[in-house]
Amino acid sequence: MKVTIAGAGIAGLATALALDADGHDIEIFEAVQEIKPLGVGINLLPHAAAILNGLGVLDDLLKSGVATSELSYFNRHGQKIWSEPRGLYAGQNAPQVSLARGELQRILLLHVRERLGESRIHSGHRLVSFSNKKDQAVAIFSTPSSSELIVQSDILICADGIHSAARAQLYPDEGAPLYSGRLLWRATTMAPPFLSGTSMIMAGHEDQKFVCYPIESCGEDGLQKINWIAELRRPLLRNPEDWNRKGDINDFYDEQLPHRGAICFGCHIKSVRLGFTYGKDNFHGDTIAEKQRKIVSDAAINGVQAEPVTNWM
Ligand SMILES: Cc1cc2nc3c(=O)[nH]c(=O)nc-3n(C[C@H](O)[C@H](O)[C@H](O)COP(=O)(O)OP(=O)(O)OC[C@H]3O[C@@H](n4cnc5c(N)ncnc54)[C@H](O)[C@@H]3O)c2cc1C
Repeated sequence: MKVTIAGAGIAGLATALALDADGHDIEIFEAVQEIKPLGVGINLLPHAAAILNGLGVLDDLLKSGVATSELSYFNRHGQKIWSEPRGLYAGQNAPQVSLARGELQRILLLHVRERLGESRIHSGHRLVSFSNKKDQAVAIFSTPSSSELIVQSDILICADGIHSAARAQLYPDEGAPLYSGRLLWRATTMAPPFLSGTSMIMAGHEDQKFVCYPIESCGEDGLQKINWIAELRRPLLRNPEDWNRKGDINDFYDEQLPHRGAICFGCHIKSVRLGFTYGKDNFHGDTIAEKQRKIVSDAAINGVQAEPVTNWM
């Protein structure tokens, strides 16, 4: 089948690998001119890691990140409340992988380039609209030369992220994503390993929380890149979501905290809508505002099915 994918993010790239492995003819159209690795820590849970293993990507992900061995909860005095093994350490068939989000995207892109060839990835092509024509999906993309490109295929997969143009076409009155009321202060710090060196910890409660885990193995200097997230319930301060803006500590707390490479963003929710298809079109990942932990599973399992997915949440 000829398949067009709009969006070369986590969902679009994982979908491309899965459909290519099934022998489909894939072309990817990505809005930005240059795909740059962005973001800090992200966790792939074992069901996603197992699928990526099947796609031949897991070894590279593990070279870049960490196979997380345990998740421990602490109270504000630092006393342990609960700890549980994760991934392979919990007897599952695949690890939980903690790594930089940008690395995940970079590695997926590398594998897509190797398997599909560079000519199948069209950067600078933004999905503008789509329609169904007989048994074909018709997608219109704006191109770097500001002209329009019409692409027909058997299936159009819209993996164009949280500000999905396809979703906006389907739900024109939906409006922008809602602010969840929580401000996340995210950063990485080079520091000596804590606990097992592959531990993830959480402390606090839903209005005031701290999450911390390593996203690289320990270097020869004895330091490890540690991702941490300090989360507070806060009023909406300004444009809540900008991954490219450096964080301002004053948005969060008055005291100056040691931090490095911090970025700041608001956490969003949309009305929850599970994976679905519309005519010839599949919607994935943030396009349907689902948790990232199932995006890769969606990509592989739901890639070309025409059934609504209702068993994920
Ligand atoms: C910059 C960034 C940093 C992040 N960092 C973290 C993190 O550190 N930790 C974490 O847990 N989660 C992070 N997230 C969230 C997590 O990565 C997302 O939940 C996940 O990437 C969603 O996957 P997706 O493929 O649905 O969307 P995305 O990964 O956002 O991919 C969507 C892709 O579609 C492209 N696109 C958008 N509009 C169009 C269009 N009209 N036509 C064609 N292409 C289009 C975008 O440029 C993008 O490449 C981050 C998200 C972003 C965007």
